[in-house]
Amino acid sequence: MPDRDEARALTGTLTSETLETLRDLGRIADARGVGAFVVGGVVRDAILERTCEDLDVVVEDDAIEFAEAAARELGGHVKRYDRFGTAILLLKHGVKVDVATSRSELYSRPGALPDVAPDPIEMDLRRRDFTLNAMAVRINRDGFGELLDPTAGREDLAAGVLRVIHKRSFEDDPTRVLRCIRFSARFSFTLDPLTEALLRSAVERDLVSTVSGERIMNEIRLILSEDEDWSPLNQLDSLGALASIHSNWRLPENGARLFSKLQTILENPLGSMGSATPWRARFLLAVSALPPCDTRALLDRLRSGTALRNIVDGLARFDVEARELLESESEIPRSDIHDALAAFHSETLAVVLASSGPVLSERITLYLSELDGVRPILSGADLVALGLEEGTVLGQTLADLQRARLDGIVTSEAEEREFVRKAIRDLDVENKR
Ligand code: ATP
Repeated sequence: MPDRDEARALTGTLTSETLETLRDLGRIADARGVGAFVVGGVVRDAILERTCEDLDVVVEDDAIEFAEAAARELGGHVKRYDRFGTAILLLKHGVKVDVATSRSELYSRPGALPDVAPDPIEMDLRRRDFTLNAMAVRINRDGFGELLDPTAGREDLAAGVLRVIHKRSFEDDPTRVLRCIRFSARFSFTLDPLTEALLRSAVERDLVSTVSGERIMNEIRLILSEDEDWSPLNQLDSLGALASIHSNWRLPENGARLFSKLQTILENPLGSMGSATPWRARFLLAVSALPPCDTRALLDRLRSGTALRNIVDGLARFDVEARELLESESEIPRSDIHDALAAFHSETLAVVLASSGPVLSERITLYLSELDGVRPILSGADLVALGLEEGTVLGQTLADLQRARLDGIVTSEAEEREFVRKAIRDLDVENKR
């Protein structure tokens, strides 16, 4: 057990608002006669003096009833998750707290969700993934700030070691394979040798394949949301874990170089590239070496949402619809460049840009910096006022006007009006024929 005063100092790294909330929750727990603790990432990050956004509280009590009592007393409201017996407490001053009942878990088979039973805090800590995530700090008034560290997580933190709590850990929950790689990369920690052997054995036994698509996707999203690092994906690839998710999933050969180019593009976004979601762009790069049929099967396996599917489909579509034109050495009008690129998501363009040669790169850059968002000054209503009826002809004339603007054929409102009048005259001549 670490020195009590030293442990109390942990809470000194939290913001005063967080501390105040924890003291309030501790008071409510005291009134209910139950133990209450802040646990997991927030304790780990406080010791590492890193900021942590999540506030996870565990109570030796019914979590939903506890959260509702806290919301009544402190002002706020509760989102109940009856199926899991957990709650999110949204306090009126904006602090969000995840509340769970202290529990143990029993896994019937790898990849299954566990059977849970309420248990004291120590058992709750022992069911967790890694020793560094298995610490709690008491928030009851008596003993406020006391560190509970039954698996010596603090020593592992100091030594920079990631260690599972027991030998069956990866079997119980193979998503921990992905979590293991994520945490070791984030903190640059080494794996304890037994943990590494267990990790390799879990991957060799293909345990990751037993996990539901949603849970894997969630972990992949988290891995890809950690910034600037291709190495976790690379490690998963070399371990064989990507192949456990889909047998043909391999990273692109020069992935590290492409990833760092993609990073530069995302960090210095041109125009609408600023709206790209970095993890989705990184995901696209990670699947870019797969043929479209395998990519679709992988997305089905991961039960991916439509936003990601559209982005991934866009990359295949780019090759079919746009690449040849945009890579051609011959001169092409700016409006053609615009029209070829306007239908693609910014994530798709970011990945194409990361791997493009000079001609394509120059055209995408031109599109993002000058062409995207160029609109005529005149609106549909202006065209009606000039004598066009609403309908397809008007739509086509607006599109022609936009192309004329992109190509510099019209540069002012007066020129636009003249362009439309001429289009109407040409139409009249055609109709009279
Ligand atoms: P992050 O900083 O990435 O949010 P975190 O440690 O807060 O990290 P969460 O996924 O929010 O991670 O989980 C909160 C805590 O719940 C963890 O610290 C860990 O104790 C426990 N935990 C989460 N997922 C698992 C798991 N699959 N197996 C065991 N324990 C887990």
